Amino acid sequence: GFKCGIVGLPNVGKSTLFNALTETAAAEAANYPFCTIEPNVGRVAVPDPRLERLAAISKSAKVIPTQLEFVDIAGLVRGASKGEGLGNQFLANIREVDAIVHVLRCFEGDVTHVEGSVDPLRDAETVETELMMADLDSLERQADTTAKRAKTGDKEARLRMAVLEPVLAALRDGRPARTVEISEEQKPLFRSLNLLTAKPVLYAANVAEHEVAEGNALSEKVREKAEAEGAGFVVISAAIEAEIAALDGEEKQAFLEELGLGESGLARLIRAGYALLDLITFFTVGPKEARAWTVKRGARAPQAAGVIHSDFERGFIRAETIAFDDYIALGGEQGAKDAGKMRAEGKEYPVVDGDVFHFRFNV
Ligand code: GDP
Repeated sequence: GFKCGIVGLPNVGKSTLFNALTETAAAEAANYPFCTIEPNVGRVAVPDPRLERLAAISKSAKVIPTQLEFVDIAGLVRGASKGEGLGNQFLANIREVDAIVHVLRCFEGDVTHVEGSVDPLRDAETVETELMMADLDSLERQADTTAKRAKTGDKEARLRMAVLEPVLAALRDGRPARTVEISEEQKPLFRSLNLLTAKPVLYAANVAEHEVAEGNALSEKVREKAEAEGAGFVVISAAIEAEIAALDGEEKQAFLEELGLGESGLARLIRAGYALLDLITFFTVGPKEARAWTVKRGARAPQAAGVIHSDFERGFIRAETIAFDDYIALGGEQGAKDAGKMRAEGKEYPVVDGDVFHFRFNV
């Protein structure tokens, strides 16, 4: 599964947010499979109204949303890259996630702040600096040996240096690795460096309960920063998300309206995480179940089949697909078929968000 790591300085609301996410999963457990995999890892359903509509048309007995994993990564403090706090363990945990949800405290109040005052931009810089120093550390070690090999004419080492050099320059200049322009051919090499600051970032501005609809002056600064960096951004109030999560149906809707919200901050956060990872959804729909599945944008039909079962990918023959809009407009699978809107697609077909698939395969 795809993983978002929740990071931030101590006392900014990470655990509160993580608990709210797992609370949501627990509240929906009657209908949705979920689990807390480890104390700090939880799987949550990705809200998608399309799935309910598909299930209603095909009278599916079960509705199974696709999921995203969240990891609560505690232990980041100033100096973590030099081994302060949980330093190394923290960095190892963050290396394993696909994207970073960076929680920034934007609520005032008497909760102790490790830096003595509430300043999300300073906090963001503190965290980012630790991540950049960790990247710089690991790259400088590699660069020494690679540079020596490159001098002897080693072709692979030269290609490697061509990636290492601009990344090192950026990091030394205080810019994260994700800001470096990398050519298509260099991408695999760049990815293999597995840098912390190469991961996409989403800022979660944690505001006070009464500010959740509009945000506040501090969250506004975070929004501007996110925009400038091309990062994701959501306003949440971790403290009330757990309350919202525990409610269901009408009660939840009423409470959200009272707060001036259309949907919970968690739903927005989950969706933003999904977008940040550049993920898309396809569906399998039948009387037994309607189910949503996830692939990376650009995935081909056999890879999508492989998400369901590795045998489907190995023995892939073709995919039969109906676009979501056609499925709905034509009243379901039979209607779409009759209208000639079910297409047969081969191995090279790039999955489109909303495809409703049947896979044909050899066993
Ligand atoms: P972590 O160290 O980042 O995991 O922070 P916690 O989730 O443990 O939160 C630290 C403290 O801030 C706790 O006392 C929370 O109740 C409080 N807190 C977290 N989010 C909010 C919020 O949105 N509003 C307010 N008023 N307090 C919050």
